[in-house]
Amino acid sequence: MNNKLFDSIIKAKGVGQIISKKLNEKNIYTKIDLLLRLPIGTIDRRFCPTLDQLEIGKISTIFVRPIKYNFPRIRNLPFRVTCEDNFGKIDIVFFNVRENYIRQQLPLNTEIIISGKITIYKNKFQMTNPDYIQTIDKEMSIKKIMSKYLNISGISPKTIQKIYFEESKDISEIEEWHDKNFINERGWSSWSSSIKKLHNPETNDDINKNSNYYERLAFDEILSNLLLFKKIRKRIIRKTKINKEISKEYLNTIQQKLPFKLTKDQIKVINEISIDLGSSKKMMRLLQGDVGCGKTIVAFITAACVIKNDYQVAIMVPTEILAMQHYKLFKNLFKDENINVELISSSIKKEKQKTILNELLSGKIDLIIGTHSLFQNRIKFKKLGYIIIDEQHKFGVKQRIELASKGDTNTDVLLMTATPIPRTLIITNYGDLDLSTIKEKPFNNNITTFLKPNSKIDDVLNFIEKRINSSDQVYWVCPIIDESEKLNVKAVNERLKFLKNKTSYKMECIHGNLKEQERDKIMINFLEKKLDLIVCTTIVEVGLDNPNVNTIVIENSERFGLSQLHQLRGRVGRSGNEACCLLVYHKNLSELSKKRLKIIKDNLNGFLIAEEDLKLRGYGDILGFKQSGEKDFLIADPIYHSHLFDLAKEYVDKIDDTKKFEILLKIFNKQKIYNIIDAG
Ligand code: ADP
Ligand code: MG
Repeated sequence: MNNKLFDSIIKAKGVGQIISKKLNEKNIYTKIDLLLRLPIGTIDRRFCPTLDQLEIGKISTIFVRPIKYNFPRIRNLPFRVTCEDNFGKIDIVFFNVRENYIRQQLPLNTEIIISGKITIYKNKFQMTNPDYIQTIDKEMSIKKIMSKYLNISGISPKTIQKIYFEESKDISEIEEWHDKNFINERGWSSWSSSIKKLHNPETNDDINKNSNYYERLAFDEILSNLLLFKKIRKRIIRKTKINKEISKEYLNTIQQKLPFKLTKDQIKVINEISIDLGSSKKMMRLLQGDVGCGKTIVAFITAACVIKNDYQVAIMVPTEILAMQHYKLFKNLFKDENINVELISSSIKKEKQKTILNELLSGKIDLIIGTHSLFQNRIKFKKLGYIIIDEQHKFGVKQRIELASKGDTNTDVLLMTATPIPRTLIITNYGDLDLSTIKEKPFNNNITTFLKPNSKIDDVLNFIEKRINSSDQVYWVCPIIDESEKLNVKAVNERLKFLKNKTSYKMECIHGNLKEQERDKIMINFLEKKLDLIVCTTIVEVGLDNPNVNTIVIENSERFGLSQLHQLRGRVGRSGNEACCLLVYHKNLSELSKKRLKIIKDNLNGFLIAEEDLKLRGYGDILGFKQSGEKDFLIADPIYHSHLFDLAKEYVDKIDDTKKFEILLKIFNKQKIYNIIDAG
């Protein structure tokens, strides 16, 4: 294990404090972290034309002699160096470069190598700010295929390239964890030579996703995930818990008091959960179901059953508005059940918070609902029996695992998500979980979706006027423009101002910068119909349930992911009412954007939309890893490498002794996660 690969990145050649810090920001802490971020492409510098063979736009490596400098003294005019070979001439053009540098790098009448892109200016070939200028003896270090890496802000591309070049030059061999036969059958090479080749490709094909080198690494990455979950699962199974008694009679009585009849799928899922709760194995279950399929009630009913067993229950949600909403709904639906439910949020006064904490410890509170910060605090329960995490896609894998390991053995865990997860990801990222799915919805969706270019915003205003006059309410969603909250707030405020100028509705706006209390107040006013319209960012996306709102306008809809649009649209028509969704788009739509919006317009099924989205967009942010700042795979591609996912699944099931794979877990940094569980 004493391998240099695991050294801190600061030990890499060319990396000092500053660069090391920049790399840390990108989650690169060790040399291996760096190497696992593979090149994003190659630059082929093997084309070496003579000056009569130049081609526009082509990366070329030329062998020339500088013969004349031209250093104009006028600002903004570039420096030029005329060069020649035996067949012609070319101007090398420099912007923002010092004269001295040029005299040094391009001494007159000396043969040098220059590599860069050929362009044309006033009918003559030229090369602007060349990528490389080298003395003639360095021919072989230039005339080759070079790897191109992702830009890291604050580090120049050339520096990045150099660091990679040094680190990938000689990578020492690591003891092989696979059988020789397994490797040979697939034509794979050792781990070390594979990664070395990917950084120093000889042909463009070497770095393709289907090259033997790439596949070997992708497979190992997938396997490391599976191994981790295998270990976690083993740990969970090893623990036995005291089973909870779920009585059929009690289930029936609560169901009878509901204002509606449960759907078949809801009953099926409640049953699956009940079996887990009643068994002596800790439950780790993922409940998947499209927006509006009624997951909340499933959570509530099963929670009530656990409370009946004298355990406490915690429900975690991503936003405070949602927590508040769940709290009210629970109180309302279960008012006869003698269940003591509390809401905990940062907007609750310190004193009240203290009381709540005390009552959780004493066991007076049966059910606590709050945001996930709830669990980061030092909350102690008397007897926590069940954790429910709503809209789990907003949490990262690591967060989830940390959380699950918090409760003691007797704590069952249910995760709920409206985001359909592709099969390959279920295999690797949810390998620790059992899966329940709700397919049918309580109502047929009755949402009509319209597309409108933003040039026709007056039509949109006329339309919502009609809706509001017939006592409908409206969400008006502005896109998240930027990672900076400031700009988003500005956009929302501007929209509100615009609408206030044009119309006379009662409206407010909500966004991430408002205090929770203000936000809640607005949402409550909206719920009580004191407002007609709310301008907001995607803050409404996660799970809000206001059955009165039947119109949603989404601006710049082409900027959203399809699953996200579907989630947003799912905010309306929640009681089966006839509802509508206006997707406003920028009028110069690309073909791809047109196709995407058409998918949304024509489909109301979230699973179908997710599949189509995946095909069009490729695997990206399905699980919301962007929000949680975590990326699940550096190398493997869950769509492209689905065969490797299947292979890895088969492979991991046959492994008994995980010892020789320890190093694999270390390479892909899974050990840390595992240690959390181990400690918990
Ligand atoms: P989600 O799965 O998106 O979290 P919710 O649990 O918020 O969906 O349910 C959507 C709406 O459907 C809520 O207003 C809820 O009260 C209602 N609902 C849930 N189950 C049923 C049912 N079986 N019959 C009628 N309405 C239901
Ligand atoms: Mg929900």
